[in-house]
Amino acid sequence: MALKIRNQLTRKTYKGVQKLTKGHMVIRSKYVAGQVLEHTSGLAFQVYDCCLNSCVCFAGEFESLTVCLLCSKPRYDSQQKAQNQFRYIPIIPCLQVMFREQDVIELLHYRLQCKAHPNRINDMWDGMNLQELLNKNIKINGQLQGYTYGELDTDIFLTLTCNGISIHKGIGAQHSKTEYACFLLELIILNLPPEVQTQDCYVYSLDIIPGPHEPKHLDSFCWLFYLECMCRLQGIQTYNS
Ligand SMILES: [Zn+2]
Repeated sequence: MALKIRNQLTRKTYKGVQKLTKGHMVIRSKYVAGQVLEHTSGLAFQVYDCCLNSCVCFAGEFESLTVCLLCSKPRYDSQQKAQNQFRYIPIIPCLQVMFREQDVIELLHYRLQCKAHPNRINDMWDGMNLQELLNKNIKINGQLQGYTYGELDTDIFLTLTCNGISIHKGIGAQHSKTEYACFLLELIILNLPPEVQTQDCYVYSLDIIPGPHEPKHLDSFCWLFYLECMCRLQGIQTYNS
């Protein structure tokens, strides 16, 4: 959505934004309409530098590096411009939007209806790791909080997936020995019923790591997602329809 706002704003969407502002703003171009949409939706992406060979993202402990610590490629070119970048799309605004639709809220309640079976695995919620997590108190900056994971009906559980995509061969290019065109980091919402979790409209892209090589230090690319989650562990005020 953020990429669409920035790059592919259609004429219909442009007119929609004009209607949205009810004549209170003069929107002269698609660019301005994109800016308005980004501002009101919170779906703007953030750009970060990464290694020319996509080894690491220069974020977190690598933020100040000027050379890749794995392949020694310089971060900047002779003009002091980053040689490679990737875009991170914050997930929180996407999750907040879900609570505006009653149908989606009911789907998110699937987690609450799950009854764990000790001797049978029907879905992720029967797994030992998730069941153990539900009884643990949340820890923020080393301090145990007075509430547990999943205590609120509105708590959201996410799982991260990463896969390489070749524009020539599609997903699973590793088996065809084709170099990757890019790597997608995507989130699956575990609160949703299993038959819905992997539908396109409920899978959110966090970022696209440029190819052709696979990221060697995946944690550095996940750092921004980790930060976003840590900042929101104490909860997020959200309109719930
Ligand atoms: Zn490198």
